[in-house]
Amino acid sequence: MPDAPAPSPGPPGLSRLRPVLPSPVRQVEDERFTRHGVTLLLKRDDLIHPDLPGNKWRKLAPNLLAAAGRPVLTFGGAYSNHLRATAAAGRLLGFRTIGVVRGDELAHRPLNPSLARCAADGMRLHFVDRRTYRAKTDPVVLAGLLDVHGECEIVPEGGSNALAARGCAALGHELRGVADVAAVACGTGGSLAGLAAGLGPGQRALGVPVLRGGFLGDAVRELQQEAFGGPAGDWWLDERFHFGGYARTTPALHAFAQDFEDRHGLPVERLYVAKMLHALTVLAEEGAFPAGSTVAAVITGRPDTAADGQSASSR
Ligand SMILES: *Cc1c(COP(=O)(O)O)cnc(C)c1O
Repeated sequence: MPDAPAPSPGPPGLSRLRPVLPSPVRQVEDERFTRHGVTLLLKRDDLIHPDLPGNKWRKLAPNLLAAAGRPVLTFGGAYSNHLRATAAAGRLLGFRTIGVVRGDELAHRPLNPSLARCAADGMRLHFVDRRTYRAKTDPVVLAGLLDVHGECEIVPEGGSNALAARGCAALGHELRGVADVAAVACGTGGSLAGLAAGLGPGQRALGVPVLRGGFLGDAVRELQQEAFGGPAGDWWLDERFHFGGYARTTPALHAFAQDFEDRHGLPVERLYVAKMLHALTVLAEEGAFPAGSTVAAVITGRPDTAADGQSASSR
């Protein structure tokens, strides 16, 4: 008898991290939805991997495959989940990581818990002023960084590039036939770009930006152009739920998140996931989802100890 076909290896080395894929889906009873005839599902991408949760796994995996073991240089703010996930991947898989961080080095010493964890995972931190950071896609700036750090795979801020968007299309595939609407919190828009592309006909993706500014629609269109050659899938944005902007929270948002945790036993990450869940409850109340429809909330991350110090101080 011939040998059984080898299982698909996936990105080299990555399969040994044993990602939980497809991620689990759980239905929850929530009267804010059921009284409108709407079913709420939680798509638990936060359970994919303890150190590379949610969309961070989906976006990084194809980029690490492309890097093929070369050092990875990427960009983020002082509390970037993407930087932490990249640093953890470097530690677990044994490749070098360089994190280009926005802001003056002196202002960041001592390191906050998030950056301290990046450093503990072996990430080399390279601080740049805001002007340089804004110019981070400029070939001259990139050449300067490569001069310092040697040959690297460059992954953009938030890990969002064409590879990442294609990686997130798998999230849409996993939700085919499962929900009418799939909602995701948006930072750079890479996850939404891929999710929308991966859904089936008749399904729609909702993006909830956690940043102010109204630029996200263009970012998603550009990423879809790069990743899929044009617009892909049916998606829309609701820009009302940023709660003041990136990393901003309010007592009302914390109260909402705490209540959601109490109702459903789901640890609710505050900077992204809480805003998306809050958006869904408001939209359900407004009648945005027809009776009989099913909404999947993509749980892209979970609260962690590094971010807790930060959210505790704004509580
Ligand atoms: C990074 C992140 C997002 C945003 O993903 P984008 O692809 O940048 O839009 C959403 N939720 C969590 C928990 C994240 O860490």
